[in-house]
Amino acid sequence: MNKIKNYINGKFLPPVNDEWIDNYCPANGQVYGHIPNSSKEDVEKAYSAAKSAFPLWSQTTLEARSRILIKISELLEANLQRFAEAESKDNGKPIGLAKTVDIPRAASNFRFFGNAITQFASESHESVGHDAINYTLRQPIGVVGCISPWNLPLYLFTWKIAPAIAAGNCVVAKPSEITPMTAYLLGKICTEAGLPTGVLNIVHGLGSTTGQAIIEHPDIKAISFTGGTETGAHIAKIAAPMFKKLSLELGGKNPNIIFADCDYDDMLKTTVRSSFANQGQICLCGSRIFVEATIYKKFKTDFVEKVKQLKIGHPSKEGTNIGALVSKSHLEKVIRYIDIAKEENGTIICGGNKVIVPGYEGGYYLEPTVIEVVTDECRVNQEEIFGPVVTIMPFNTENDVLQMANKVKYGLSATLWTNNLKRTMRMSNQLQSGIIWVNTWMLRDLRTPFGGVKESGVGREGGFEALRFFTEAKNVCIKY
Ligand code: NAD
Repeated sequence: MNKIKNYINGKFLPPVNDEWIDNYCPANGQVYGHIPNSSKEDVEKAYSAAKSAFPLWSQTTLEARSRILIKISELLEANLQRFAEAESKDNGKPIGLAKTVDIPRAASNFRFFGNAITQFASESHESVGHDAINYTLRQPIGVVGCISPWNLPLYLFTWKIAPAIAAGNCVVAKPSEITPMTAYLLGKICTEAGLPTGVLNIVHGLGSTTGQAIIEHPDIKAISFTGGTETGAHIAKIAAPMFKKLSLELGGKNPNIIFADCDYDDMLKTTVRSSFANQGQICLCGSRIFVEATIYKKFKTDFVEKVKQLKIGHPSKEGTNIGALVSKSHLEKVIRYIDIAKEENGTIICGGNKVIVPGYEGGYYLEPTVIEVVTDECRVNQEEIFGPVVTIMPFNTENDVLQMANKVKYGLSATLWTNNLKRTMRMSNQLQSGIIWVNTWMLRDLRTPFGGVKESGVGREGGFEALRFFTEAKNVCIKY
């Protein structure tokens, strides 16, 4: 049986308390490994290692840091198959997706921030008439905490770690206890790439124990967190009195707004992807589809036909479009929402049932599900489901759909399908979300600010925003 260990000060260590958690394979529902349930003592060890490594690492030249980050990126690429297999087994996602999205993006994260740190500049302000010049230093914070979720395990884990260490910090990081495997493998790669010991420390365990110990640690001065809104609120409550810097990337319930004048075929193909990629378990999925009334009937027919063609199967099989959901409890949560939809007079026009994949009867499979709703105010249209479930409903006017799109507590992303330029500008200005995609979905340029408004979080990741988050600005004013 696979036994994952913590990566602390460059060594693989068992948890101090010798407590272990089962790790399940979603494709067959069986335990296939154990991971540490790390305690405060393990987090303290990780913190001490990071603290000791900080003085030297923060003084390392940008070129040297950059070289190491790029080396990590190259090693990830060289081990693509192995990492993709591990990610697919741990998470239930199709191997094809892990190979083309998750692992390449994790490698890009290191390459991108390895390059970005060499281009990161700070401001200077001349105080005209006062004979003074101000310049701003951007200094690393010290030891920072990075906590990530299960849906894009290595992709999101490295999206935090790479800018943190590029900026000269040392890190205590915790991946989701549900998908720990690729984070474990990353430790080996970092050592091989020559990352000095203690710069990155990876502790595994539950949110309520290991995660809690990280956020409560008085000397871990910044927390970069991606996960659920409730957890984010809890972290903010603990961290605020200690004045920690916080970046919170939280839940979403994103609208996908389709106007009749769009490029129909492109929209249809992309909408299938933005609804069901990664079994709908992407915070950016467009789970509320609003379609202009004039094309609603046609869209409904065409969409359902395309969704029915998606192949549900074992994640390791090439050609599988829909793998397994991440866990039994998550599958049950998603099914509860399908029941709620029925109680609320929603019509299941496609899917809605568990799937038995022969040979893997214990796996967590669910049909991609399309629910026609009569009002945008029903629970399935308001609450984050985070599974292969979308709602559809028609709209009549631009103003109506704008109201409905904004009438949720979340504000992460929105997708707009139209060829009308003025409408694009009007809607983009007024949609309440941090990211707007027009005539595309999940097209990511790593330089752009990434994050949500309202209950989708605070702060922005990506590009220089991330490097700003992981540094403290210090202004120096010199009179001459
Ligand atoms: P979660 O909040 O349950 O867990 C996320 C991480 O936080 C895990 O590592 C978990 O162990 C840890 N955690 C839990 N309790 C903690 C505590 N008390 N202290 C410290 N850490 C704690 O979220 P999840 O179920 O893993 O992920 C799904 C959620 O993540 C969805 O809501 C989804 O929308 C969101 N998400 C958001 C983004 C984004 O960029 N905005 C991206 C991906 C996922």
